[in-house]
Amino acid sequence: MKTMALVAGAQVDTDHFIGGRRMASESTFEDISPIDARVIAEVARGGQHEAYLAIGAAKAAFEVWRRVSPKERAAYLHRIADLVEERVEVLAAVETADNGALLRSHRRSVMPRVAQNFRFFADYLTDSLEVGEFHTRGHRNHVSYDPAGVAVLISPWNAPLMLATWKVAPALAAGDTVVLKPSEWSPLTASLLADIVTEAGLPPGVFNLVQGFGEEAGAALVADSRVRRISFTGSVPTARLIAAACAKNLTPVSFELGGKSPFMVFDDADLELAVSMAVEQYDNAGQVCLSGTRLLVQSGIWDAFMERFVAAATSLRQGDPREEETQIGPQIHPEHLARIDGFVSRAKASGAKVAFGGGPNQELGGLYYRPTLFVEVDPQAEIAREEVFGPVLVALRFDTEAEAVALANDTDFGLAAMVFTSDPERAERVSAEVVAGTVWNNCFYVRDLRAPFGGSKRSGVGREGGAWSFDFFCDLKNSVFSPHGWRV
Ligand code: NAD
Repeated sequence: MKTMALVAGAQVDTDHFIGGRRMASESTFEDISPIDARVIAEVARGGQHEAYLAIGAAKAAFEVWRRVSPKERAAYLHRIADLVEERVEVLAAVETADNGALLRSHRRSVMPRVAQNFRFFADYLTDSLEVGEFHTRGHRNHVSYDPAGVAVLISPWNAPLMLATWKVAPALAAGDTVVLKPSEWSPLTASLLADIVTEAGLPPGVFNLVQGFGEEAGAALVADSRVRRISFTGSVPTARLIAAACAKNLTPVSFELGGKSPFMVFDDADLELAVSMAVEQYDNAGQVCLSGTRLLVQSGIWDAFMERFVAAATSLRQGDPREEETQIGPQIHPEHLARIDGFVSRAKASGAKVAFGGGPNQELGGLYYRPTLFVEVDPQAEIAREEVFGPVLVALRFDTEAEAVALANDTDFGLAAMVFTSDPERAERVSAEVVAGTVWNNCFYVRDLRAPFGGSKRSGVGREGGAWSFDFFCDLKNSVFSPHGWRV
């Protein structure tokens, strides 16, 4: 059954996109808007059949795409970026309707970053990707980045198009062909991306899109033996299922997973800076993998920090994410709100003290949850250890630097860490001791796309960004040429 939707004034074709053509499914699923919990679209519900066709289309197109020169591939990526830039307003409005994150962020930073994802890998491909040449007793070693084949890309709902294109762009740049499966809770901007790649003239089958549920479409895609790479961003439990599914074919995987990042504030920190950055941890209603959800505050600054932090966090303006003044929007889905509330209820029941928040926002109703802070929490308690993925922080007190580092590392996760101190030597020491993919000293969210991005421990497997993306999406090959016909 053909599916189309009118969302935020834009026509969105919500069918799959396979081999350069839209394809319907026999059944559909409902997509709701977090803004008012109403259904905004019927979306094609893919499964085994659609996964099979999409991988087949991608495999056939690989024989064409891998022979397209890096320079031409870069030109396609720049054309896609141009079209994203032309459509920032539409993409931003549809994304906000679909996932409830702030419209102004989508307009000003997220959608421009989507375009930048394509430009960065296009430029990297032509400027920086080095092909090694070295000699061994007259024999020439030539190291090349060869396209690997079909890449399955599975993305989450918290930053749908930004995270999807952070995979699509390097995979296409590398010469792979792709099958994207966006989250069933935010499927719409991926559909708009299918329109964009069509207009950019990308050969049919190079980019494919399968919509549907994780346990249906997602599971079918990751189990297919024709797939050469799987790049997944999402939760640890899903990563375990994917790892088990692709064990059979030994398909290489890249996992970008969850976090419970420490936000460390030392006595000598710039208090205003630390407080303003701590409040940012509620960004996207706390639905950010990098969020510093464990505030670790040194005893000497505890009272001053808490007084200011509580004042700032409780005056955050919650409401409709389309309004310019809104600072915190809704949670993504009723199931997710119930999951967040489950964590909060269990924490309360076990004696953790609520400093503020602690439940849904009754005035707004729907999917709005109050920014919440727990204090006097046992560091071993569930609320201090598990990723809530909502606007829920815990604050823990420490006395010494060694204690701060021990608390920071006392977690199964290792995605990010934030350190606030005016002592540069302390920043260096703590940064060296903390186990995390990214450590931000006196800052947060600073991203240079050349830097590696990913998580340690259960926060991930592998790194994305710069050359690391090419290392993943390519097969590295060493060809040895002998001018003499000798064996060494
Ligand atoms: P999720 O694991 O529930 O789903 C992610 C994707 O996997 C969705 O597209 C889903 O349909 C698909 N999926 C589900 N089951 C599957 C299966 N059996 N086989 C194949 N695919 C399947 O995660 P989510 O709730 O969408 O996202 C939130 C999580 O993502 C959080 O843990 C968050 O920390 C993490 N995240 C990590 C990063 C990062 O860069 N490290 C960025 C954003 C989000």
